[in-house]
Amino acid sequence: MTPGHAPPEGSPPEGITTEDARRRRDFLRRLHRWFVTEGRHDLPWQRDRRAYAVWVSEIMLQQTTVDTVRRYYTPFMRRFPTVRSLARAELDEVLRVWSGLGYYRRAHHLHEAARRVVEHHGGRFPRTLEGLLELPGIGRSTAGAVLSLAYDRPAVVLDTNVRRVLERYWREALRRRGNAERALWELAAWLLPSSGGRSHTQGLMDLGALVCRPRSPLCPRCPLVKSCPGPREAVPRMRSARGTRRLVLLYRRDRHGRIFLVRRPAHGIWAGLWCLPERGEGPPGDTRPLLTRRHTLSHLELEIRLVTESPGSGRLPLAGVWTTGPMRERLAIPPVVREMLESLPPRVPGKT
Ligand code: SF4
Repeated sequence: MTPGHAPPEGSPPEGITTEDARRRRDFLRRLHRWFVTEGRHDLPWQRDRRAYAVWVSEIMLQQTTVDTVRRYYTPFMRRFPTVRSLARAELDEVLRVWSGLGYYRRAHHLHEAARRVVEHHGGRFPRTLEGLLELPGIGRSTAGAVLSLAYDRPAVVLDTNVRRVLERYWREALRRRGNAERALWELAAWLLPSSGGRSHTQGLMDLGALVCRPRSPLCPRCPLVKSCPGPREAVPRMRSARGTRRLVLLYRRDRHGRIFLVRRPAHGIWAGLWCLPERGEGPPGDTRPLLTRRHTLSHLELEIRLVTESPGSGRLPLAGVWTTGPMRERLAIPPVVREMLESLPPRVPGKT
């Protein structure tokens, strides 16, 4: 069986008992009832069920909270209402609208995938798991989300919220099968109802987000509490502690007031965005910063120092541009860097 596809009826994965089959029926019935009355039905991305809209929201929701995505989804969809409009846009414009949402590789992938959908599929999203998986940035879980939420098909979604619910409720069944990743995918596929893929997927996502929370699950309010062994033995997936990184950025402003910016590499922090050139540090105390900021990324704490001099600062990178204020308005610049530039008094020179 291909993980992500529903198994044929009557073929439970290995190790599933008659009792598990009874619990499955109970699980589906309770989950569905709970979702109808308690689930989330008014998120901005639930008002548009086109595959394009579902896909954009799912990519945004990867590694980003619902509250943050709320602020970005609507402006993005206003600017790029269709897959064709996204495919036609310049990457810089996509990055500018994405700016602040983080994990910029996702924006690169969205743009590239939109172009492929237009070039290879006539602007229509693939309706199969295999077709979706060929697009950049789409993994099995995101493909499952598009199939179930856009086309109402039974398809497995295993985002962090869904995983947590399944790992807690089905702990015993998973333990019997060695807790392997494959066992989880097969169990999730076995749980799929024959119809109502959309409400099943959304119900699991909502239960994980609202009730079966990572640190403090609200078991007394959970529709599954009577038959769930509870979270006590489950190993919570803890976020690894954030590391800290110092980023030294070189501020250069010429006598016309233009500021020198470079495009960041396509991988890593602020991938593909425009930024001040990054420089190495001199000995401690050697470089007095004009400004410093602490900025938290989901996986990293940045200490940003804006300097006018640093070792090797005499030469500027060739692949950069002198930017005027109106130009910078149109460029995708990390919000924290933009804020730092705007907070500098206009007469701070920077060397040229
Ligand atoms: S009873 Fe508790 S642990 Fe079990 S699914 Fe519900 S919230 Fe999660």
